[in-house]
Amino acid sequence: MTGAESEELDRIKMAAQAILKSESLNLQLMPAIAVKLVNLTRDETVRLDALAKIIETDPALAIKVLQTVNSAAYCLPNKVTSIRRAVHLLGTDEVRRLALSMLLFSRMIRRESKGFDFLFFWQHCLFVAELSRQVAIALNHADPEMVYTAGLLHDIGKLALETHGKMTYSQFIASLPDSEHPLLEEERRFFGITHDEMGWVLCREWQLPAPIVAVAACHHALPDSGSPYYPCRTEIAIVAFANYTAWLQGISSISHAGPPQLSPLVFELLPIDVLELELESLLLETDKAMQAAREFYSIAFPDVNSLRARLLQASITMSRIHHHAGEFGSRSTRNISASLTAPHQSLDPAYFVPWTLEMIMQDFEFDRVILFSVNPQRRSLAAAHAYPEIHERALEIDIGCLSGKLLDCLREKKAVLIDAALEPKNPLLQKFNTAEFIAVPVLRHRRLAGMIYADYAIKQKSMAGRILEEIVAVAEQLGIALMNAKHYEMQRQQAQLDSLTQLYNRRMLECSLSQIFQRPAYELKGIALGFVDIDHFKSFNDQCGHQKGDEIIRLVADMLKRLTRPGDLIGRFGGEEFLFVLMNTDEDDVRAYAERIRLEIERRGEVLKPRFQQLGLTVSIGVALYQSDFGHYTDLIEAADQTMYRAKMAGRNRVILFSDLPPGCKTSALGRNIGN
Ligand code: GH3
Ligand code: MG
Ligand code: MG
Repeated sequence: MTGAESEELDRIKMAAQAILKSESLNLQLMPAIAVKLVNLTRDETVRLDALAKIIETDPALAIKVLQTVNSAAYCLPNKVTSIRRAVHLLGTDEVRRLALSMLLFSRMIRRESKGFDFLFFWQHCLFVAELSRQVAIALNHADPEMVYTAGLLHDIGKLALETHGKMTYSQFIASLPDSEHPLLEEERRFFGITHDEMGWVLCREWQLPAPIVAVAACHHALPDSGSPYYPCRTEIAIVAFANYTAWLQGISSISHAGPPQLSPLVFELLPIDVLELELESLLLETDKAMQAAREFYSIAFPDVNSLRARLLQASITMSRIHHHAGEFGSRSTRNISASLTAPHQSLDPAYFVPWTLEMIMQDFEFDRVILFSVNPQRRSLAAAHAYPEIHERALEIDIGCLSGKLLDCLREKKAVLIDAALEPKNPLLQKFNTAEFIAVPVLRHRRLAGMIYADYAIKQKSMAGRILEEIVAVAEQLGIALMNAKHYEMQRQQAQLDSLTQLYNRRMLECSLSQIFQRPAYELKGIALGFVDIDHFKSFNDQCGHQKGDEIIRLVADMLKRLTRPGDLIGRFGGEEFLFVLMNTDEDDVRAYAERIRLEIERRGEVLKPRFQQLGLTVSIGVALYQSDFGHYTDLIEAADQTMYRAKMAGRNRVILFSDLPPGCKTSALGRNIGN
């Protein structure tokens, strides 16, 4: 560090000390054990031991790690009672991530605060950390775990101000509502320093590794080649990108404010084209990790609706900044906030697309607005929605026949104004009998999703002033909304399915069963639930390897799919256990169905034996039919599970019904005798 830099550091340190309540900068925000976790050696030979030792020194942390490892999510056959074993099973990286986030989280939870939403802030940090890690992996970064930690801590300065400041971050937020200055500028005005400067001195004080200090210090302004943090510019760019994406997704750290300032350098440092191609799957992975975190902390993070509300708020703020930026000359008096917010009114394009067009009609007083969507197979633009309605069967334009500015609009993805004086032959001018129209591309992830057409054919007004810029802002919001909608739909579907088999997962099964059990008792008669468990499955794993084991699980899943009627329910309950639920059945029918499954799997296994070291594939099935003393769906599951266990005891590869069991065996999980 040069003399000038260390002077700067001293200055900020003094400013930080002046605004914090505690005398020392070594705030309890980052307990010593967390610092040790961050600094954990990367040497694999000692890493596992070192991690176990660190965790074992904090009993509360150790207990939470063990609880997690033993939870149903990990499907481990035996109870794990040692941290060392837990680390061995889950891997050092996962356990370290878990422990680190748990430590920071416990510093925040249960705090009450007026302006500062701790849960929301926490969600932001986790999202940025996980997305940063995913991006680092996608870019083959040498240490994605370090990038994760840097993401987790990037806004630690805000947290320090909120929890330890003489003036808190809540008070700062309360002073903001009418401000249109960038957030960092406002922070400097209020606190004397900014949250990234605060993060910088704290991370240095805690002696965290350089990339973490660098990210805390520079995630809003990338370092130049003279900065000591220049070597960490890639890590900084990754976190800055994740931070920006979090904002796009409605997961910013505080609800105020427009987009975080994203330096153009980020785009130079990261191969954004590669990222864009993968962004959806990266987001999906990130969401899975967030979901796991939600379950892990058993807390209700804000749901999608409130996220959307925040996004809406942010887009209004952004449009305000955009309007007042003054770069287009005179201030507009037109209020286009209805058009800007309309795309975020729903996550269903069938609803928000026509609604947005209607709002555009209103705000801009156009005579006609059409949204064309791109059909890549037919290489055409087809009118998807139109105001007023178009009466002919379909309006479709062959992209191959286009020329001039309309082609520029699609190719270069820029908004254009087309008028009859310059392009008299344009087919749309002729079709709608107008002197001019505008065409604005709608982009999803920079890919062309559609085009907005608008004209003043009847009023014969000219498209004067800033219409083009304004409608571009609306098209951007529409693009974001389309991206969110697609992402949400994928996430919704994935959340219900088991990733290995694409059958319903346990959560979805339990959710469906609990819904079924809300029906009146007489409607529940005729419901049967079966537990299907692969026999000696462990031998497949042990003798043929885990991948072949997975193959067996998929095979059984496919057989179940094929043998089940559309109205019935099947899913993977856990490891090598499946569950089926038949409606409107009786003992004979369900026994025959279960027998067919058992037999088909056995036959199939016989054929495939040579591929699996001559191991035979069979299943044991336990079936229970609903009876009136089952008060809860779990009673039905429990009865079928017990019966399956009996089938195992009786020699496996067989079907047994709960009603076949001798009365003494029918003990429910609730400890009472049922079914006698
Ligand atoms: P039993 O006949 O008594 O059911 O014996 P089993 O070996 O089938 O049952 P056990 O419960 O002893 O072992 C199940 C094994 O399944 C243990 C676990 O490691 C493995 N397993 C769980 N989930 C998966 C998975 O997704 N893929 C693979 N390959 N193995 C899994
Ligand atoms: Mg088992
Ligand atoms: Mg088994």
